[in-house]
Amino acid sequence: MRLHLLALLGIAMTFAVAASAKDTPNEQSWSFAIHGGAGVLQRANMTPQQQADYRVALQVALDAGAKVLRDGGSAVDAVTAAIVILEDDPKFNAGRGAVFTWDGVNDLDASIMDGKGRRAGAVAGVRTVRHPILLAEAVMEEGRHVLLSGPGAEEFASERGLEIVPPEFFATDERRRQLEMVKADKLSALEVEFKFGTVGAVARDNTGRLAAGTSTGGMTGKRWGRIGDAPLIGAGTYADDTACAVSATGSGEYFIRVAVAHTICERVRSARRLTIAGETQDVPLTTEILQGIVDGVIAEVGELGGSGGVIVVSPSGEPVFSMNSQGMYRGRATAAGLSEVAIFSDE
Ligand code: ASP
Repeated sequence: MRLHLLALLGIAMTFAVAASAKDTPNEQSWSFAIHGGAGVLQRANMTPQQQADYRVALQVALDAGAKVLRDGGSAVDAVTAAIVILEDDPKFNAGRGAVFTWDGVNDLDASIMDGKGRRAGAVAGVRTVRHPILLAEAVMEEGRHVLLSGPGAEEFASERGLEIVPPEFFATDERRRQLEMVKADKLSALEVEFKFGTVGAVARDNTGRLAAGTSTGGMTGKRWGRIGDAPLIGAGTYADDTACAVSATGSGEYFIRVAVAHTICERVRSARRLTIAGETQDVPLTTEILQGIVDGVIAEVGELGGSGGVIVVSPSGEPVFSMNSQGMYRGRATAAGLSEVAIFSDE
């Protein structure tokens, strides 16, 4: 009898500890991942110095997001903290250093999603807003619309007091040279075999809240007001606290057709849902199951002829990557002490 009582007490205490751990926002359980674009990234095409420069840049952005989470900040704040750094870095195709359109301008796209309540904001084709990711966040916070474009989005940016810069702020000689090469070969935007360079971040904060964000200049030589997957909620970006958070990079047209970010989240949601004796509840997913789901969706992109990759966090698992390109600039960190950056697919 006494043994039974002790056992019951033990079980009750276990539940009490589990409940309080879950409800305590300061419990360190965050995870975070970033990408800086996927594409034709081979060791032979990059000098050791270039590789080192990219790794340092990724680590700086990764550390910035991780610090927000470690200090108890929100998943949305971690995502924007990392992306503003990558937008300012001309090595990446977002903000300053974005690729050129066929007409020689930088048209910037970005989106962000908060997994709690599935709030979202996005902008497409902006030319004067220093940090498109902050404009996407402002659209989300304002709440009336999800996707703003062109001059209207810029007017909204001014009204919200965001930093406005002249369009030349984003232009770099290296990206201009890439446009000239594309034009000389008369390649279309879809044929460009360049490294892409879009940036993105996904986060799970200490309260279990998820967020995802993506920012890009699109693809070199894009024409006719082309918009890729990055500003499209469900294609390049998606977050839902009951499923996962995803940011994508690659040949956007294919990511749109597969609705990559939403498809991944939908499959994760189904895999987490367990019904026992008529009662449905969410169960934690192992990293292996999460990885299998994500790889499956990227394989579908590949079957259609697209290439690129994604970063994903689930409410329970470690951050995972998947790509079918030769590389993806990426990094991940967790409260458990993981902190790593990588470039090539075999790393
Ligand atoms: N997905 C982006 C686009 O299609 C390009 C990239 O990821 O670099 O606009």
